Amino acid sequence: EVRLRFAPSPTGYLHIGGLRTALYNYLFSKHNNGKFVLRIEDTDQTRYVEGAIENLIESLKWAGIKYDEGVFVEDHKLVQKGEYGPYIQSERLDIYKKYVNELIEKGYAYYCFCSKERLDTLRDEQKIKGLVPKYDGFCRNIPLEEARKRIADGEEYVVRLKLPHDKDIKFHDLVRGEIVINTNDIDDQVLLKSDGFPTYHLAVVVDDHLMKITHIVRGEEWLPSTPKHIYLYEAFGWEQPVYVHLPTVLNSERKKLSKRHGDVSVEDFRSKGYLSEGLVNYLALVGWSPEDDEEILTLEEMVEKFSFERVSKTGGIFDRDKLDWVNGHYIRELDLEYITELTIPFLKEAKLIDDKFCDENKEWLKVLVDTVRGNMSTLAEIVDKTDFIFKDEVEVVEEDAKEILGGENTDTLMNAVIEELNNIDEIDFDYAKIFMKTIQKSTGIKGKNLFMPVRVALTGVAHGPEMVNIIYLLGKEKIIARANKVLG
Ligand code: GLU
Repeated sequence: EVRLRFAPSPTGYLHIGGLRTALYNYLFSKHNNGKFVLRIEDTDQTRYVEGAIENLIESLKWAGIKYDEGVFVEDHKLVQKGEYGPYIQSERLDIYKKYVNELIEKGYAYYCFCSKERLDTLRDEQKIKGLVPKYDGFCRNIPLEEARKRIADGEEYVVRLKLPHDKDIKFHDLVRGEIVINTNDIDDQVLLKSDGFPTYHLAVVVDDHLMKITHIVRGEEWLPSTPKHIYLYEAFGWEQPVYVHLPTVLNSERKKLSKRHGDVSVEDFRSKGYLSEGLVNYLALVGWSPEDDEEILTLEEMVEKFSFERVSKTGGIFDRDKLDWVNGHYIRELDLEYITELTIPFLKEAKLIDDKFCDENKEWLKVLVDTVRGNMSTLAEIVDKTDFIFKDEVEVVEEDAKEILGGENTDTLMNAVIEELNNIDEIDFDYAKIFMKTIQKSTGIKGKNLFMPVRVALTGVAHGPEMVNIIYLLGKEKIIARANKVLG
């Protein structure tokens, strides 16, 4: 059975690149009817952020990426499910201790007592010489007996990986092919820190093995770490998983997406009005494409078509315009009620509507959204696109619109509009459909000469959505007021 995992460190938010990693893991595991695990890698206690795990889980849930095992939120509490738990690394410290001891016994790791000052000086000296900083192996040959005695005497220590000198470590990456790195270019990595916590390198190998992970799919920033992991698998005598390192998600300047340069977290995109369907669909295409080059895909279709053969080796560019295009597609095509529900928070935040209005005008809101969604690329755009409906009056500023309103038929039309509406109670949708015809009959004005002045009077501009919708949405009082304003 194929088993994959997403193993984020809870830093406080889910990076868009992390979401893509999670997505590819999900797609591959589901494509192969396998299992997908969420493990939390929180061994760096200095980076602890309150609520970060919940936040991560919420972002994955929003994106529709489901997992079978690991850490979940139920009734606002973290719960863990699956037979290989715990799935939070800080709850697995005893397990790591046991495996570290095994490495020490077998001679694959050693105790190191070097002080921070010594390591700092060493690093500075190496830097001055133009060398890549690397531990010099000072404690490599301390006899185990002696080391144990020093520990018993209360000396602080870490445990380091004892890499052989000048040995090529080879591994195969499904996307990048054969990779060879010589141990001379790798540090004697710290495996266990002085606070008793493992480093990422030890914890990731132990957990991936114990959790029976078959494929490790992660960002290419981890590529330099992989030889250390390979060596650990060898040291333990464990079977190696398959490795896949994904190209980094880059911005249009081919740089890493960073918080300083705008949106990077899943939450940022959600609050800007991207649909999970749009964001996930687009993200899948940053670094992968299906064989048929289809660009609009549901999650199920992606599962069906996904393979690593079609993941690119080079960085994927995150193209905001393309994202907007994909997102706009889903805003137009998905169920109107669903899109309306998602749009409401944006209207509320802009104070165009409140809870009460919302409860009383569900159908009206659906028409509102349907009227403009053809031209929206994010849900947030609803505000700019519809505020002319909510306003008490509209300003005519554009020259072409002013010109239309200055035409000879305007007063006749406005008077006819007011007279007609004074005879009715309220505008329902059926009445909205025949309204312009009625005005045409009573005034004898038709076509452009009829539509354009009415449109400008009601909306302030010469172009826009369907008149029938506008008439329905504005309603009797607003139309009369706008007509009166034109009459002056
Ligand atoms: N905890 C690592 C991270 O935050 C996981 C890397 C891996 O998947 O091995 O990205």
